[in-house]
Amino acid sequence: MKRFFPILLMIICLCITSCSNKDHKTTLSFYAMDTFMSIDAYGENSQAAEQAKDRVLELEDRLSVTDKNSEIFAINNGLSVNISPDTLNLICYSLEMSEKTGGALNPTIYPILLEWGFTTGNYRVPDPQRLSELLENVGADKVTVNGGSISLADGVMLDLGAVAKGYASEECAKILRESGVKSALINLGGNIRLVGNRPDGTPWNIGVADPLGEGYVGILSLTDCAAVTSGNYQRYFIENDTVYGHIIDPATGFPVDNDLLSVTVIANDGTLCDALSTALFVMGCEKAEQYWRDNRDFEAVFVTKNNTVYVTSGIYQSFTLDESSGSALKIIE
Ligand code: ADP
Ligand code: MG
Repeated sequence: MKRFFPILLMIICLCITSCSNKDHKTTLSFYAMDTFMSIDAYGENSQAAEQAKDRVLELEDRLSVTDKNSEIFAINNGLSVNISPDTLNLICYSLEMSEKTGGALNPTIYPILLEWGFTTGNYRVPDPQRLSELLENVGADKVTVNGGSISLADGVMLDLGAVAKGYASEECAKILRESGVKSALINLGGNIRLVGNRPDGTPWNIGVADPLGEGYVGILSLTDCAAVTSGNYQRYFIENDTVYGHIIDPATGFPVDNDLLSVTVIANDGTLCDALSTALFVMGCEKAEQYWRDNRDFEAVFVTKNNTVYVTSGIYQSFTLDESSGSALKIIE
């Protein structure tokens, strides 16, 4: 037995080394941008997840609307600040998307959110007169980009909350890919960004949450893309039996209340997914469907109040309805 022991030990060691190379995985869970986040990276370069996390924290420092040291805070309060390419590009992107979505995505909505108490937690239903006064300061046309500087008309404030997590998820994917990671699942508070397939080579299964329950209305089978969901079912307050959610219709200054419960957008770019999931949720089902027909650079899943899940034709094959959700499934063509 004595002679066999070193050989046995060698075999065990070899086995452990080869297993750990094959099964290398880095999982990080952290809290940033006011939500829970996780990064699961696979393969021998999976440690790059640490850099991806640092990048999220850097972006939070730059883009936070509440942090007194952020660039957005400085811009909103007329303080002098060096605007980073991240902040400048994301402001420009939001302004473009605001125009493209007919103002449904509106990076100048912040004064309205403040009035509702969404950023402070001092929730209240504002006086309609006050809301219409504040709405006069809402609009992409009230922001001027001049080279590397941004100027805001009086009373105008920026909030990139509708696009920041999507942008951050795309930055994470870039870092992981550049580090040689071929398989990763990035989940920034429900903003999903997938790198490649699962480590076993099969697509990822991403659940589309049931906005009214605990489970899922269905599962998306996806590879190397982003999937972002927006809805008013996660951040809201209730007053006099009415639910007031955190996504505001810029046309009224009131939380969105239409035929949609949630919108999930699937595309190759996480920033686009984030911008569109918010904007399409504001539009309501019919306008959102039309926006898809006019653009077709993304796919979408709409969960509606009439117990029906509408799925655009390009993603229909990859979506499996959870029969137990009791929802009907319809295709949008
Ligand atoms: P989440 O942040 O929950 O992932 P969204 O991406 O839809 O959801 O962004 C919602 C956030 O965007 C709100 O918390 C608010 O900061 C901001 N916001 C609310 N309404 C709008 C709007 N119409 N356009 C742009 N930003 C909005
Ligand atoms: Mg969004």
